[in-house]
Amino acid sequence: MDALLERLRAGLPAEALITDPDVTASYAHDMASFCDAGTPAVVVLPRSVEEVQHVMRTATALRVPVVPQGARTGLSGAANASDGCIVLSLVKMDRILEISPVDRIAVVEPGVVNATLSRAVGELGLYYPPDPSSWEMCTIGGNIGTASGGLCCVKYGVTAEYVLGLEVVLADGRLLNTGRRTAKGVAGYDLTRLFVGSEGSLGIVVKAVLALRPRPPQQLALAAEFPSAAAACDAVCRIMERGHTPSLLELMDRTTVRAVNAMASMGLPESTEALLLCAFDTPDPAADLAAVGELCKASGATEVVPADDVAESELLLQARRSALPALEAVKSATMIDDVCVPRSRLGAMIEGTAAIAEKFGLTIGVCAHAGDGNTHPVVCFDHTDPDESRRARASFDEIMALGLELGGTITGEHGVGVLKKEWLARELGEVGLELQRGIKSAFDPLGLLNPGKLF
Ligand SMILES: Cc1cc2nc3c(=O)[nH]c(=O)nc-3n(C[C@H](O)[C@H](O)[C@H](O)COP(=O)(O)OP(=O)(O)OC[C@H]3O[C@@H](n4cnc5c(N)ncnc54)[C@H](O)[C@@H]3O)c2cc1C
Repeated sequence: MDALLERLRAGLPAEALITDPDVTASYAHDMASFCDAGTPAVVVLPRSVEEVQHVMRTATALRVPVVPQGARTGLSGAANASDGCIVLSLVKMDRILEISPVDRIAVVEPGVVNATLSRAVGELGLYYPPDPSSWEMCTIGGNIGTASGGLCCVKYGVTAEYVLGLEVVLADGRLLNTGRRTAKGVAGYDLTRLFVGSEGSLGIVVKAVLALRPRPPQQLALAAEFPSAAAACDAVCRIMERGHTPSLLELMDRTTVRAVNAMASMGLPESTEALLLCAFDTPDPAADLAAVGELCKASGATEVVPADDVAESELLLQARRSALPALEAVKSATMIDDVCVPRSRLGAMIEGTAAIAEKFGLTIGVCAHAGDGNTHPVVCFDHTDPDESRRARASFDEIMALGLELGGTITGEHGVGVLKKEWLARELGEVGLELQRGIKSAFDPLGLLNPGKLF
């Protein structure tokens, strides 16, 4: 420990190092339940690429594991510390280095908060689409680490589609440049894409070139009430089948609607079994919403309420963004699943989840990026009750098994981390797993980067 601190101090200003155990303990884990976290030896908050390189050279020389962190809003334990590790928090590297309206790119450091970037590019008439509900807190480095998605992905796609190039400090301290800042480019293997979703296991992202789009018109939303989740899912299929391009298509079940009302008095309709929110940022959103409203009614919607204006639409989005915090308040703990299925199987997924909730005698609220088939069943339980905790974990696993059965994936956007690593092996299969391990050891032969995650 002394040798580690001495070597780190040689290349870092004093304020970049935290060793007080009370403070380092607060960097031990992200926001996921049921994930082991170790005790870090030290937390380092670098401000430059050179400082990150110094940390990695030190870690390699002394064979100390390194856990990169952004804002620790992750929901899979992917940013959790391991015993004796260096926690490398990138939050102080938070400069927007360039925004180019001609090239339609932004060049940023990893600690830039998602909403800060969105606002900055918005002022120039540009748009950075990936918008996790945690956008006011989470960082671009974390978004790249988890390949995160969000509410607008049904139209604009996920983080992977917007990362053009990266600067990455490798485990031994070398600096790697991947990708490009051009609109096109196919030179060599796509290492940029490989880093997206790699959960800090291949290198430390210290700079990112991100694609931007022209800012679309502000979106208008509607809310549709359904007598069952199956009817709401039927509406989702009709909307997509008819070729509509909503900028948002989200579902909240009855439990979620009630939880949001309880937390934020949003006045959402409590008698509904499922609430579908749909928005358009097209040239004539009112016409698109009217067409979608008819499709909802054809699927059995009992009420279709278009928002009067942009402000009312934003309130509906706020309701959806508060779904996870609201469900977290239902009981003392939650486990948040992230199963994504082909959207044609969404109804089966939600019905199956309800059956799992009944089987285990638990409250499981479901909110979903319905247009993507990405469900977030949130298992609410009392963590002081051992039996309820055991049932919660078992139901969480059954939900993933159901997702795989329906042709889906165990994680649409939150990542594998510690929480789902046994399940990753099932999803990838033997050959896939072996190749992925080979890639990990090509980048990190000593296994120092974020050990114990993914595999
Ligand atoms: C209320 C709430 C709502 C959420 N909604 C969404 C949502 O809609 N969509 C969604 O996808 N997620 C959502 N999340 C999950 C979470 O916010 C995302 O996974 C987010 O991308 C994590 O960013 P972070 O900065 O907190 O990263 P962290 O949690 O700190 O880290 C995430 C991963 O990235 C790695 N990492 C971080 N920085 C770097 C770096 N510079 N270089 C290499 N690796 C790095 C870490 O090691 C870790 O593996 C939500 C979370 C909460 C609490």
